[in-house]
Amino acid sequence: MKRRMFIKKLSAGAVVSGGLAAWLDILASERVFVFPEKRSFELLGPNLDEHIKDGLHKTKNFNRTYNDDVLLNPELYGVLQLTVQRLARLQRLVGYANFNLLGFDDSMKYATSYSRVGAFTKQELDFIESVFFEDASHYGFLGNKVITKLTSNISSRETIKIPNTGHYLFKGQPLQTYNKIKKDVGDNVTLTSGIRGVVKQIHLFLAKAVKTEGNISQASRSLAPPGHSYHGVGDFDVGKVGFGANNFTAAFSTTKEYKKLRDLGYLLIRYTENNPYGVRFEPWHIKVA
Ligand SMILES: [Zn+2]
Repeated sequence: MKRRMFIKKLSAGAVVSGGLAAWLDILASERVFVFPEKRSFELLGPNLDEHIKDGLHKTKNFNRTYNDDVLLNPELYGVLQLTVQRLARLQRLVGYANFNLLGFDDSMKYATSYSRVGAFTKQELDFIESVFFEDASHYGFLGNKVITKLTSNISSRETIKIPNTGHYLFKGQPLQTYNKIKKDVGDNVTLTSGIRGVVKQIHLFLAKAVKTEGNISQASRSLAPPGHSYHGVGDFDVGKVGFGANNFTAAFSTTKEYKKLRDLGYLLIRYTENNPYGVRFEPWHIKVA
């Protein structure tokens, strides 16, 4: 059903390339069942308080596993690994920075054209599609979907590459905000993640799901599922120069840079410490969109 909607949307307006149309034909036959244990997070149910308490606990302890987490079955875990490996090869082909902006259709073209990436298999495409169109609340993620088209593209004219970061920002409000932060807080603050297109978010999310051994719920407590990241529409992350991976941990909130950002009012944090969306606290994330 979701696939039919997807095909309909494409034919209704978007440009369907020959290659894309061809693989959509192939896809039309069968659907992999990705989430065998769907569990809805019944926010409107009578146990609202219990659910919220439960959600907050998980948000604070995002790296733990819970017995109602949704897991991929072993067969799909295999498909997940192959998909992540192919996406990693694609990222190497186009380059780290370019990969942030790469659209889905172009990803398909590059993969098919370059043997060192190789065309995505039917199972991999089915899997990607299922992950993108699955209702994320089924596995505990309650944030908004901000990009609804798997094939949505980022226009390079609307973006600007930020030197020495490997990342891009949208011109306009996000760029202005970033420049103001640099001016107010100093050169010790840098962009650690800017615009992330659909394919980049798919790669990040699926790579996280490999690390969680197929636990999609656990992955979604650290990273917004594809289509749900505000990095696709203007938000960005900042960190302290030289702080490395610590910039993406709670340790960032102990730095002078964080305190300055907070005191200057930049941290209208998207996912606060006790957010109700099932996402960990992200003190490095700058909300723009
Ligand atoms: Zn972020």
